[in-house]
Amino acid sequence: MNNPTIGKDLPKIICVDDDESVLRSLARVLSHHFQVITCTTGAEVVTLLQSHNDIAVILADLRLPDTNGIQLLQTAKKLSPNSIRAILSGQIDIRDMMTAVNQAEIDRFILKPWDNDYLEVQMLEALQTHLLLTEKSQLQHLAITDIVTGLKNHRYFQELLRREIERSKRHSRPLSLIMVDIDHFKKFNDQFGHPEGDKALAMVAQTLTYGLRTVDTVARYGGEEFAIVLPETELLAASEIAERLRKSVEAIQFSDPRKLTISLGATQLRDGENSESIVRRADEALYQSKGKGRNCATFVK
Ligand code: GH3
Ligand code: MG
Ligand code: MG
Repeated sequence: MNNPTIGKDLPKIICVDDDESVLRSLARVLSHHFQVITCTTGAEVVTLLQSHNDIAVILADLRLPDTNGIQLLQTAKKLSPNSIRAILSGQIDIRDMMTAVNQAEIDRFILKPWDNDYLEVQMLEALQTHLLLTEKSQLQHLAITDIVTGLKNHRYFQELLRREIERSKRHSRPLSLIMVDIDHFKKFNDQFGHPEGDKALAMVAQTLTYGLRTVDTVARYGGEEFAIVLPETELLAASEIAERLRKSVEAIQFSDPRKLTISLGATQLRDGENSESIVRRADEALYQSKGKGRNCATFVK
């Protein structure tokens, strides 16, 4: 694998071909516009994609020693969906081309021997598509993310909960919801200032996500309130999670004399109910916790 340091700020293109002379020629043409990373096997490309999320274009030979270009680009699509996938080959037949389009959404085919100007234009167009895709996914990310905490936002939570309720009904599986509210957070802000409050919110958010499964979702419900959706989870397990989260927030080491606790309410989805109804019940459980003196969790079947 050749990873030149020149052209470091240029967008990255991976060229993979078992013929070193092809790689040298490609690098000569493309290095005006790209940082060209050359590989001779599919395995090298996979390793690169696992550690880099900024690959603009992957240009792959159809026949490689350890795989074929289409299979490789199929894997690449999963690992790096915003990278543009292109095939470079001496013999592209129509069947290969259809397979490539269907399986790996390959959007460019370059025939060997190539015309340098044509190759350059094709790869620059691929770069433009990559930039558009990246911008789109950044916007999509922003639309569902809360800036202060990095958690999913309220809108995403509402959609996710509706989706998970549908799934739970379809497969007759349990689903639990925990609502969380920071105790006396107004006082914390008044005492230490709003910016410190924001930092504390982010720390609590991080603590809530720690140790949950990837299928679980913690969202910022609003202000200093969070909601946790737990698919495939009965109330007993949810109550254990709630109690663990309560303890771990209590144990956060803010700088002295700062301290925070949370109150929680947990409940399990009932037959036939909708998202408003389960949220209301979890919220009622949470307010029972407030009534009991805060820093505790209440569970309602
Ligand atoms: P309780 O134990 O009853 O929940 O008391 P509380 O003070 O936490 O509740 P209250 O609803 O009276 O106040 C919520 C506070 O949360 C007030 C508001 O300033 C603060 N808050 C909400 N959103 C943010 C935020 O984004 N950043 C900061 N720093 N504070 C926030
Ligand atoms: Mg509060
Ligand atoms: Mg509140």
